[in-house]
Amino acid sequence: MTSPVPDVVLNNGVAMPQLGYGVFRVPDEETERAVLAALAAGYRSIDTASLYGNETGVGRALAASGLDRDELFVTTKVWNDDQGYDSALRAFDASSSRLRLDQVDLYLIHWPKPSLDRYVETWRALEKLYAEGRVRAIGVSNFRPDHLRRLLDETQVVPAVNQIELHPDLQQEQLRRFHARHGIVTEAWSPLGQGHAVRHPVVVEVADRHGRTPAQVVLRWHLQLGNVVIPKSTTPSRIRENIAVFDFTLDDVEMEALAELETGTRLGPDPDERDTRGRPGFSSAGGRWVG
Ligand code: NAD
Repeated sequence: MTSPVPDVVLNNGVAMPQLGYGVFRVPDEETERAVLAALAAGYRSIDTASLYGNETGVGRALAASGLDRDELFVTTKVWNDDQGYDSALRAFDASSSRLRLDQVDLYLIHWPKPSLDRYVETWRALEKLYAEGRVRAIGVSNFRPDHLRRLLDETQVVPAVNQIELHPDLQQEQLRRFHARHGIVTEAWSPLGQGHAVRHPVVVEVADRHGRTPAQVVLRWHLQLGNVVIPKSTTPSRIRENIAVFDFTLDDVEMEALAELETGTRLGPDPDERDTRGRPGFSSAGGRWVG
C-alpha cells in the first residue's frame, strides 16, 4: 500500500508526512499491533515519546513492517526529567535503541519546563545530535513564543517543528503566525480535541454535506491550514477513516465556520502550568489526561 499523505518540507529541506499516527496512551504491548495497522492503512509517520513507554513496541512494529527505513518518519521526544546537555544525549541513546533505529527523523524537547531553565542547553544537545546525523531534524513541543525566541537568540539551529495542542477549540492563531514568520512547521497534538471536536454541531453539519465523518472534516480543516496532524485511534476502522482525508476540500465558508469554533479551551495545561505539575496528569481545565 502506498501512502496517500503529502509531505511538508521542513526548514532544512527534510520532507515530513503531513499526517501521522500518534501513540500516546497506547500500552507498549498493544503498540506493535496498532502501529502495524496504521502502516497497513498507509501512515508512514509515527509520533511517540520516551514518556509514552511504548518506543519498544514502535520499534518492533517498524522492524516487522517490511517497509524500507527511508519510507518511514519517526518522531520521539526527550522528557522533562532528562533535560540538560549530557542527560538529553543519554536519553536519545536510550530512545534510539528502544526504537531500534540508528537515526531518528525528528527529535523534540517535549515541554519547555521554564522553571528548570535547561531547555537552551537541552537544545544544544539536540543540535549536536543533528550535526552528527543521528537525527534528520530537531524541534520542540509546547513552546510558547518567549521560549522559541530564546532559542532563536541564543542557539544556532531554528527548530523545524513546534508540536502544540491545537484543535477547533484552541486554534493557536498567534503562535501559528509566529511559526510562519520563522519557518517553523506547526504540528497539532490532540488534533481531534481528544474526540470532543467531532461532536460540534457545525462540524457534524459540514460532514453531512460532504458525506464524510466529523473526524475527517476536522482533520481536513487542519490540513488546509497547513498543520501537520497526528490523530490517535487504536480502532482499525478509525485508523483508516482518519487517513482518508485527501480526496475532498472544505470551501472558504466551511473553513470560516470552523474558525468560529474557537473558545480558547485547553485540554492540557498551559506550558507554564505544566511546569508546576512536573508529571503528566489530569488537566484541571479539561479533566483530560495529557502527555
Ligand atoms: P486526538 O485528538 O488524536 O484524539 C484521540 C481520541 O479521539 C481517540 O482516543 C478517540 O477517542 C477519538 N477518535 C479518534 N479517531 C476518531 C474518529 N475517527 N471518530 C471519532 N472519534 C475518534 O488526541 P490525542 O491522542 O491526545 O493526540 C494525538 C497524538 O498527539 C498523541 O497520540 C500523541 O502522539 C500526541 N500528543 C502530544 C502531546 C505533547 O505534549 N507533545 C500531548 C498529547 C498528545
